[in-house]
Amino acid sequence: MSFLESKCRSPGPQSLFIAKIFPLCYTGVMGKAFVFVNQKGGVGKTTSAVNLGAYLANAEKSVLLVDFDSQANLTSGVGLDKTTKPGVYELISGKAGLDQVIRNTSVPRLSVIPSGIDLSGAAVELIEQKDRDFFLKRALAPAKNRYDFILIDCPPSLGLLTLNGMAAADAVLIPMQCEYFAMEGLTLLLKTIKRIQKSINPRLSIGGIFFTMYDPRTRLAQDVVKQVSAYFKSAVFSTIIPRNVRLSEAPSYGMPISLYDPQCPGARAYRSLAQELIQRSTAGGSNGA
Ligand code: ATP
Ligand code: MG
Repeated sequence: MSFLESKCRSPGPQSLFIAKIFPLCYTGVMGKAFVFVNQKGGVGKTTSAVNLGAYLANAEKSVLLVDFDSQANLTSGVGLDKTTKPGVYELISGKAGLDQVIRNTSVPRLSVIPSGIDLSGAAVELIEQKDRDFFLKRALAPAKNRYDFILIDCPPSLGLLTLNGMAAADAVLIPMQCEYFAMEGLTLLLKTIKRIQKSINPRLSIGGIFFTMYDPRTRLAQDVVKQVSAYFKSAVFSTIIPRNVRLSEAPSYGMPISLYDPQCPGARAYRSLAQELIQRSTAGGSNGA
């Protein structure tokens, strides 16, 4: 039995915990505001937000990307300077309005609220406030009628910024790398989502889990996909994002993959993931696990 099998199936405390908590969390895709969350760094949150956003826009949807990470990789990934102001920090601190912070990108129908290093101070400022979990939700409320999809990119932590992201969203999208310890991270994440559902956002659903940077040549990756899919069933998107160097090159040109190399395997995968998300959103929460 593999490590993952043991995590998923053996009656250990952790697998029992996941079994108990997951059906409570998963209600299928609902709403239009999605937040990319995984406390693990470098799993493809930003790459997925940019490229999913670009392909949703290509499919005639109006899309707002929200960079809610002070690393501002999403901002530079769509070709904007990380010092672009005003940005999301000015928005949540009330120094700028929504119309002042939304920028166009080179993809028609794809807009972005940029971020920058000053957002890192926001968490410290917010922590003192009574309504500290709802700054982003309040700031984005007027955008909900104006876009078909709002995609929020979060930093690699479950701190205050990510909590704000989950308070503002209708559903969580979880990018997951195909590695052994992914399940452990998932347990913590599900626990946090359940806490959010019970407190600051009862309507938050799990939009789905999808695999990133998949390398079919490794048995480990195959094993992770098999076991996690068997366990989380329809919560797992059938599209798998392959490891593809073109996806890692595109941000240095400030382009989504749809402009940089639309024929590469990574582009085809994100196009397919966008179609799947549109289908799941249209189905409106009927994807029970
Ligand atoms: P962080 O937690 O630091 O915000 P992240 O989860 O947003 O990271 P990304 O920045 O999207 O992750 O990706 C991490 C790195 O992996 C980047 O250099 C990115 O270009 C690269 N990358 C992402 N997806 C793929 C892929 N499918 N194939 C190859 N490289 C990828
Ligand atoms: Mg990122």
